[in-house]
Amino acid sequence: MFTKAQIESFKNLKTPFYYYDLELLRSTLDQIKEHGLSKGYHIHFAIKANFNFPVLEQIKEAGLGIDCVSGKEIERAIEAGFEPEQIAFAGVGKTDEEILTGLHHDIFSFNCESLQELEVLNELASEAGKTANVSIRLNPNVEANTHKYITTGLNENKFGITADKLPSLFEILPSFKALKLSGIHFHIGSQIRDLKPFAELCEKVNSLQDLFEQKGYQLEHINLGGGYGINYDAPDDEPIPDFKSFFELFDHKLELRDGQQVHFELGRSIVGQCGNLISKVLFIKEGISTNFAVIDAGMTELIRPALYQASHKVEVLTSSKPEKTYDVVGPICESSDTFQRGISLPEMNRGDLVAIRSAGAYGEVMSSGFNLRERVKAYYSDDLK
Ligand SMILES: *Cc1c(COP(=O)(O)O)cnc(C)c1O
Repeated sequence: MFTKAQIESFKNLKTPFYYYDLELLRSTLDQIKEHGLSKGYHIHFAIKANFNFPVLEQIKEAGLGIDCVSGKEIERAIEAGFEPEQIAFAGVGKTDEEILTGLHHDIFSFNCESLQELEVLNELASEAGKTANVSIRLNPNVEANTHKYITTGLNENKFGITADKLPSLFEILPSFKALKLSGIHFHIGSQIRDLKPFAELCEKVNSLQDLFEQKGYQLEHINLGGGYGINYDAPDDEPIPDFKSFFELFDHKLELRDGQQVHFELGRSIVGQCGNLISKVLFIKEGISTNFAVIDAGMTELIRPALYQASHKVEVLTSSKPEKTYDVVGPICESSDTFQRGISLPEMNRGDLVAIRSAGAYGEVMSSGFNLRERVKAYYSDDLK
C-alpha cells in the first residue's frame, strides 16, 4: 500500500507521526457523493473523529457539513469555512458557554439529549432573543453489536431520550417558546459493520415519526447519526466502506414525508482508512513465547487498542525477511500499551519502520501528553511526494 518513494520520505522524518493519504480521502468522499449526496441526503462529518484542517478542507470541498460535540468543535468548523447552517451540535453535557456558542452562530440544529437540556436551551435562547432549532435525540434501544464502550443506542446508555420520557416531552414542549422542534436524531453506536442494526433503526424511526405526527409535529428532518464501520483487519482489501449498500438500505427502509430531509453524521467511515501512524522500532526483546517489538509510538499517540481492545493492522515497511512472532508494544508504562499480540511479521531490527494502519479516526485527536510526550505531528500525501 505504501510506495517505495513514500517509505523513503518517511525515513527523513522524526517518528512517530501520522501520515494521511488525502488521495484515498478524496476517493472515499467521491463514493459518498455518488451514493449519498446524490440521493439528496445531507451528510455531516463527525469532526471529533479528526479535526485537522487539511482533512476538513477535503471534506468541505466535497460538500459535506459538520457534526460537533463541543463548542470548540463548532468554532473549529467555522474556522475551516463551514457554514453555520451545515452544523449540528450533539452531546449529553453541553455547557452554557457551548450552548451560547451554538446560538451565537445560529447553527442548523441542537441535538438535545434530555428534558433538562431543552429547558436550559430554551432559557438561554430566550435571553439571547433567539429561536434555537432543535432536534430531539431519541434512544431507540437498538443493539449495535459493537464494543460496549461505543454502543450508544441502548436504554442503559447515557445518550438520548428514552421512550418512557416521551409523554413528558410532549407535555412540556409547547411551553418552550424559544425552541423550534425541527427534527429527531439518533446515533446508535460506532464501528457497526453489519447493516442489521441500521435496518432495525429504520423501523424504530418510522414508528417514532408516526408518533410525533400524531402529536401534531411535522418533522423537517430525520438525522440518523453515524456509526458505519471500517475493515481494520484488511484495510487494503476494503480501503473504502461499501457506501452503496449503506445508503440504499435507508433509501429502501425509511418512510419519509414529502420534502423531509435526511441527515447522517459519519466519522470513522470517512477518515478511518486514510490515516496511518508511522513508528520506528526501538528495541527487540526476546520473550518466553513471543518477541517484543518495542516501537516509539504508544497509547499516547493511539489509545484505541488500550481503550477499546481495538485491533489495528501493523505493517512492517522496511523489512521483507522471513516472519517471526511478535507482540508489538509501545514505550508507556502500562501493559495495555500494546498494539498487537502474537502476530507473524517480517523479522524486525532496531530502526525498522512500521505503519499502524486505519488510524485516521479517533487516533490523533485522542493523543495525550501523558509522560510529557511531545504532541504527535501530522504529514499529508499532497505535501510528501
Ligand atoms: C461520534 C458520533 C458520530 C460519529 O460516529 P462514527 O462512528 O465515527 O461514524 C455521529 N454522531 C454523534 C452524535 C456522535 O457522537
